[in-house]
Amino acid sequence: MDYQIKEIYASFQGEGAQTGRPAVLCRFAGCNLWSGREEDRAQAQCNFCDTDFVGTDGPGGGTFATARELADAVVRCWSEKNTAGNAVERPFVICTGGEPLLQLDRTLIDTFHGEGFEVAVETNGTLPAPENIDWLTVSPKSPACDPKFVQRGGNELKLIFPQLKIDPEDFTGLDFSCFYLQPMAGPDKQRNTALMLDYCRSHPRWRMSLQTHKILGVA
Ligand code: SF4
Repeated sequence: MDYQIKEIYASFQGEGAQTGRPAVLCRFAGCNLWSGREEDRAQAQCNFCDTDFVGTDGPGGGTFATARELADAVVRCWSEKNTAGNAVERPFVICTGGEPLLQLDRTLIDTFHGEGFEVAVETNGTLPAPENIDWLTVSPKSPACDPKFVQRGGNELKLIFPQLKIDPEDFTGLDFSCFYLQPMAGPDKQRNTALMLDYCRSHPRWRMSLQTHKILGVA
């Protein structure tokens, strides 16, 4: 199969438990919860998205015919920015989207592994994740009881907060090592941040996650 990739760029993980770690971001095109077109937003299951995941026209993006071709592009991107190679930590690729699990498969993950990469994935949890992922972040967009929410374990659960009809407590029994609340961006961001802080204070299982790359203006 080929892989439709919106963009590939070297930066840092800005959110959650891996914040501050150099990474290559590999953004897969397409999502199963929104078409990405503004005219469909009101009817979409996820309607607060602020990411452009449509098409393959971003920096480093394109259609990659094989896992090998895509892994080579990620390796090139890593090597251009991270001159220390893998002397200290393994090189790190974050597969994001859109919804990366519409396309990401074991073959691609194995190919990344063959290049020495640790592989992180950020998913909305509606598709089962391959077992050979090294770091799995699940960011639900529906209540925990929704039958479409199938990925009920992983490394971190990161909930954009607040979301209509979603109670964070319904997720705390699931099989994750860390639980993060991240304030919803947009016009109510200040209010959402205050709500998130209050919630974390009164529910210490939850920690705050901020989009530090956006705060710092890092791509
Ligand atoms: S699930 Fe993620 S990528 Fe898809 S529309 Fe929602 S925020 Fe955007």
